[in-house]
Amino acid sequence: MPYPVTSRALLAACGLLSSLFTAPVVLAGNEVNLYSARKEDLIKPLLDDFSRQTGITVNLVTGKEEALLQRLNSEGTNTPADLLLTSDAGRLVAAQKAGVLQAVKSTALDQVIPTSYRDPAGYWYGLSMRARPILYARDRVKPAELSTYEDLAAPQWKGRICLRSSDSVYNQSLVAGMIAHHGETQTEAWAKGLVANLARPPKGGDRDQIKAVAAGECDITLANTYYLGGMLASSDSAEQQAATQVAVFWPNAQSTGVHVNVSGAGVTAHARNRDQAVKLLEFLASDTAQRWYAEVNNEYPVNPAIPPSATLQAWGAFKADTLNVAKLGELNAAAVKLMDRAGWK
Ligand code: FE
Repeated sequence: MPYPVTSRALLAACGLLSSLFTAPVVLAGNEVNLYSARKEDLIKPLLDDFSRQTGITVNLVTGKEEALLQRLNSEGTNTPADLLLTSDAGRLVAAQKAGVLQAVKSTALDQVIPTSYRDPAGYWYGLSMRARPILYARDRVKPAELSTYEDLAAPQWKGRICLRSSDSVYNQSLVAGMIAHHGETQTEAWAKGLVANLARPPKGGDRDQIKAVAAGECDITLANTYYLGGMLASSDSAEQQAATQVAVFWPNAQSTGVHVNVSGAGVTAHARNRDQAVKLLEFLASDTAQRWYAEVNNEYPVNPAIPPSATLQAWGAFKADTLNVAKLGELNAAAVKLMDRAGWK
């Protein structure tokens, strides 16, 4: 009975071999391991679609943005993750700087994702675009009174603005964009003016700012549009009601355009299933996936050829800032320090 003997010999050999390695050996199969900061219901159906089309199994781990990055960092070369999916260029650049991503070259990705929505060296690619315009109380502000982000520091807005805190990466990225366009000195003066116009100390998330505007605590705020979209579609009638009292204004139409950011993904530095990870990235950038991926979270497709959802179209077209979102990450540290100096809590 040679088989059991061979098997025992093999096992012994394996034991010997594995003792040579200090790290556990994980064999690559036809699978891809995804660490996703995007919630399961916002991505799972797409992943199932991908698996059906390619035969590649996707093992999904979801978590908070910061926790996933920390996990990748601490797992180092032993990480099972092949692809990191997270939101905000600030976080994508942070992951790149931490050394947990690797550069990927893909003609398919380069063809559909505009250069401003991906890392120039291919460490990460934007998969959905989100805009952070001015939101205002329909009954107390006329759109004609609004113009630019810069103008929100003007005295006419004294005591009328609600803002999320400077801990929010969304506001950090917005300020980083201002630095890229105007430099630090001018941006700091602007941030001080903005802080002086606050109706209350910064607190809460984007939805809370929208609710505060609806409740009359303030007249304008800055928020990502998908929060407004989510509230409009909410099963909570108070939330839905609040959202109907607030409207979108697209600022900076004559100058730099609306501040935009991305959710995106990058192949991990130690990916064992690199090819499968790239295939998944390419799938997420493909037409059908783009439409679904953006629409399910009220975001904009990064591919300009794909029309946004009806909800987003109802808010009108806008000029998006063409600054490469990578800049937002590069200037993140400067933005955080500047917000602190400006007294932005
Ligand atoms: Fe968000």
